[in-house]
Amino acid sequence: MKATLDAAIIGSGPNGLAAAVALAREGYAVTVFEGAAEPGGGARTRELTLPGFHHDVCSAIHPMGLASPFLRGLDLGRHGLEWIHPEIPLAHPLDQGQAVAMHRSIEETAAQFSTASARSYRRIFAPLLQRFDDLLEDLLAPPQWPRHPLSMTAFGLRILPSTLAAARAWFDDEGARALFAGNAAHSVLPLDRPISTQAIGLMLMLAGHAKGWPIAKGGSQNIVSALLAELASLGGTLETGRWIRSLADLPKARVCLFDTSPSALVAIAGGALPGSYSKRLLHYRHAPGIFKIDYALDGPVPWTAGACRRAGTVHVGGFLDEMTRAEREVFHGIHPERPFVLTAQQSLFDPTRAPEGKHTFWAYCHVPVGSTLDMTDRIEAQIERFAPGFRDLVLARHAMNCADYERYNPNLIGGDIVGGMTDWTQLLTRPVASLKPHTTPNPAIYLCSASTPPGGGVHGMCGYWAAREALNHLRAGSQ
Ligand SMILES: Cc1cc2nc3c(=O)[nH]c(=O)nc-3n(C[C@H](O)[C@H](O)[C@H](O)COP(=O)(O)OP(=O)(O)OC[C@H]3O[C@@H](n4cnc5c(N)ncnc54)[C@H](O)[C@@H]3O)c2cc1C
Repeated sequence: MKATLDAAIIGSGPNGLAAAVALAREGYAVTVFEGAAEPGGGARTRELTLPGFHHDVCSAIHPMGLASPFLRGLDLGRHGLEWIHPEIPLAHPLDQGQAVAMHRSIEETAAQFSTASARSYRRIFAPLLQRFDDLLEDLLAPPQWPRHPLSMTAFGLRILPSTLAAARAWFDDEGARALFAGNAAHSVLPLDRPISTQAIGLMLMLAGHAKGWPIAKGGSQNIVSALLAELASLGGTLETGRWIRSLADLPKARVCLFDTSPSALVAIAGGALPGSYSKRLLHYRHAPGIFKIDYALDGPVPWTAGACRRAGTVHVGGFLDEMTRAEREVFHGIHPERPFVLTAQQSLFDPTRAPEGKHTFWAYCHVPVGSTLDMTDRIEAQIERFAPGFRDLVLARHAMNCADYERYNPNLIGGDIVGGMTDWTQLLTRPVASLKPHTTPNPAIYLCSASTPPGGGVHGMCGYWAAREALNHLRAGSQ
């Protein structure tokens, strides 16, 4: 039978859509099959609480979306995507009403710290910032011989120690240590782990200094809407409500790209893959999960520290030792009494998110894999600590535990939001050790989700790299 499609994509997350666009713009016939009723995966926006309150169900803050070479090249502004930059990208409250902030400027950020810590901050970040575009090119690519070896060496030397060791060695200032550790905690790993916690933390901070930590006007869903508009303009199509359980559920296609977990790839296409490869995929390790609450508020969060009232993202976790304990506990299956809480206050900068005078607030903490424990009280105790009176403003809340997230999107296995453990071995071997990690032994099958390099986040680069591999196959077949 002749293939009716060049490419079938399973899943319409940012990576599935990026792959679809990358293939469609080369003239190939592409359809995206999405199981859920709505497209978007981890970049959807919904009225989760009350009418008129638009909440980002998953991703909210998009340093990597803005920095992504693939998304940048698409000019999604033509399709209505508008980035909004909060006045301060990130703030981190400390006890006694103080806070530290990551400003766009390294100078302004360093100026908050002790003289020695400020000197260290400049010494670490300024040279890397100058090399940011080079670093981005290598870090957002599959593991390979770096295109910019000098820049990567400079970066590599900084990520060797654990965050805990580096924060203590580089800064004598508890504020600087806390700011640094909060970024590294995005890795969902204990902060005494070397390489990966540092790599993720440094990359996020460099992106903040280089480009900012923006939100999408109207909600993260608009990133997806813009990608879909681009896909439609190239003739690609989307079918929603189409859960794919086996390859037989798809029309005949020359290549198939999976925006799914490695285990779903095995479940769907196992028969078309060698058993040994499937076995390796099934050894893929997932990260701990999250518990998230979306709030409708009667006013802005009453942070004691002024910087927090002007920031898009607020990391609520106290000092280095407290965050270190919390993240270590999560990793070892314990729910921390004082969790590290990542929050975003989109409506402060985007009035379309909530009715006039009201606000949305996005907050989650890390929890052990598969947890169903209600963390509401612990999250709110942490927020009240730095924003007394917060609970009095709550009009409505919508909470999701790990199991809810996995039901919502089967890619979020056990509540893992980063597409798989990000320890350094698995950062380099997503989904298996391979020089071409987006390919499988079957030349018609590719994996394009966040479980491939460069990993989690709304940047579309996993999809882009998978599409590049699929294009080689399609072109070879057309000759
Ligand atoms: C709570 C939360 C907060 C986050 N915050 C941020 C943030 O602030 N910034 C950021 O950059 N990133 C954030 N992320 C991570 C980001 O959302 C993900 O890394 C990103 O969405 C991964 O994109 P993807 O395309 O690989 O997969 P996904 O976005 O997970 O999309 C996969 C899609 O495939 C569909 N699918 C799966 N299996 C099938 C099947 N068998 N048949 C049909 N369809 C299928 C799913 O329904 C889903 O729509 C967050 C994630 C979560 C959950």
